[in-house]
Amino acid sequence: MSKIVLVLATHNKGKKREYELLFKGYLIEVKGLCEFKGIPKFEEEGRTFEEIATKKAQSASRILGVPALADDSGLVVEALNGAPGIFSARYAGEHADDYQNNLKLLEEMRWKENRNATFVCSIAIARPAGQVLNYTGRCLGIILNELRGATGFGYDPLFYYPPLYRTFAQLSVEEKNRVSHRGEAMRRLKNDIKRILIWLEER
Ligand code: IMP
Repeated sequence: MSKIVLVLATHNKGKKREYELLFKGYLIEVKGLCEFKGIPKFEEEGRTFEEIATKKAQSASRILGVPALADDSGLVVEALNGAPGIFSARYAGEHADDYQNNLKLLEEMRWKENRNATFVCSIAIARPAGQVLNYTGRCLGIILNELRGATGFGYDPLFYYPPLYRTFAQLSVEEKNRVSHRGEAMRRLKNDIKRILIWLEER
């Protein structure tokens, strides 16, 4: 039986490794965008994580003629009316790095009493004709008023996860995956894998 090709609409090598691991053992061959020539950059269009992931997956699938997977994630802070949200990667400016984004969040949260925040991750799998399956995961935490921990990336040092009494930047990769928004979205996808395989075969 031949494998079904699934393209990951991401240039992020870390994400590619995670998804390869997720689909290991199934009749799915995960390919990166780098394996295709002349691919345009997929713009982040949409107002929600789900919409952005969906549009990225649909564009990649339509252009390449094979099923594609895309994701979008970010941090939603209650006291900031949902910011940084879908702009999480560029909160402190178009070319801002993680540290600058964290400093901006610290500044915006300085006088806020409500520290509740949610990490969200939305995964979309699209077929060339445009049909889509979506899987979303969420994780609730508290925004600290200082950076704590050295692992992870993005807003991890400011995101305190009460059930484990630590920030995401103080957890090992395995610990974080067990509770994180991305981990939950991936588990939802994995629980649905039989349906996905049939759906991908249908074309
Ligand atoms: P994207 O899904 O690659 O577009 O990521 C958007 C941005 O959200 C990242 O650049 C981070 O700033 C933030 N983000 C998403 N997931 C996480 C996480 O697990 N930890 C910390 N920051 C995250």
